Amino acid sequence: MADYDLIVIGGGSGGLAAAQRAALHGARALVFESGRLGGTCVNVGCVPKKVMWTAAQLAHALEDARDYGFDVSAGGHDWEKLKRSRDSYVEFLNGIYARNLDRNAVELVRSRASLQGPRTAVDANGQTYTAEHILIATGGYPRVPDLPGAELGITSDGFFELEERPDRVAVIGSGYIAVELAGVLRGLGSQVEQFVRYDSVLRDFDPMLSGRLMEELAAQGVDVVTGAVPQRISRRDGLCLETADGRSFEGFDALIWAIGRDASTNNLGLEEAGVFVDDDGYVPVDEYQVTNVANVYAVGDVIGKAQLTPVAIAAGRRLADRVFGGQTDRHLSYELIPTVVFSHPPIGTVGLTETEARERYPQD
Ligand code: FAD
Repeated sequence: MADYDLIVIGGGSGGLAAAQRAALHGARALVFESGRLGGTCVNVGCVPKKVMWTAAQLAHALEDARDYGFDVSAGGHDWEKLKRSRDSYVEFLNGIYARNLDRNAVELVRSRASLQGPRTAVDANGQTYTAEHILIATGGYPRVPDLPGAELGITSDGFFELEERPDRVAVIGSGYIAVELAGVLRGLGSQVEQFVRYDSVLRDFDPMLSGRLMEELAAQGVDVVTGAVPQRISRRDGLCLETADGRSFEGFDALIWAIGRDASTNNLGLEEAGVFVDDDGYVPVDEYQVTNVANVYAVGDVIGKAQLTPVAIAAGRRLADRVFGGQTDRHLSYELIPTVVFSHPPIGTVGLTETEARERYPQD
């Protein structure tokens, strides 16, 4: 008999949700986590970001308050204090996650793990563990381009480590994370230039939303530089960004890469287990989260679809309901997933963009 019913590699949103739901159904579940419990969302994603967003939103509200009759003035902002409070809130959540695992009798091994076969995992000390079912929930990490000087920049992970607010910042990227970091920094007083490859931010969103957000960013003083393809970063008087069309922008205190995320599938033993990985490094699954190997599943960012915490959680829980709870057709539909961009003001959207709708339902 195998040691466990379920082994989960990755103690983030999807992995913890699946393991806990499996345990509620009576399964013997084990989670491997190599970093901090809770994964990206809790430690370097949604949670600390929303703390920062709230701080920036308060700064905007303070600016407006006098017009609404309040006798207030902002006497500066203490970034270090905000970071300390934010870090202790995240630590508090780490503790809650650990206690929840205990309460649900889910075993936790704080180690990196890899597969040795479709039913066997091995931890960093070489100890092996077997299970009837294995779930890959290893998430992803921020991408850094292969360019001279790229290492002089930081990523969203590094943003959350900043001990002081950089005065002048280059944010590279046009997706929601880039927009959100640019907005927070600007709201808290930094001078922000956001560099985008094409002509606007949020290109995967409805053009109406990206167009309106471009106006809002300009009104807030975020300078969006379009047609900017980074070519080289160097340190002169501050950081200097050179773009492919020969422009150069100097004097930054920080440069943040927010150009996408890659799946954590390296050195995971997927080949040994016979699990297929696509050309982009993601683990493809069917509608029941099953990989090409019958008892190996994947949920969350590692599958490369709808990379959001509630999606990872829902997919993980439904998988556990199906495999361990006898709910034979339970699975997550990836249609109509709502999403929010924590810009200023925030944006909510669900369903097809106008462009997608026109492609899917062409008019004669
Ligand atoms: P993760 O949460 O990344 O967890 C994977 C875990 O696996 C990690 O803890 C990692 O240490 C561990 N791991 C990896 N490899 C191994 C291994 N070999 N052995 C053991 N452990 C391993 N989503 C939202 O819904 N709303 C938001 O507002 C939002 N904001 C975000 C802001 C930022 C800046 C970022 C970066 C992300 C944000 N996201 C947001 C996305 C969200 O964080 C992810 O979709 C979510 O965390 C994915 O969960 P997951 O379980 O797939 O992976």
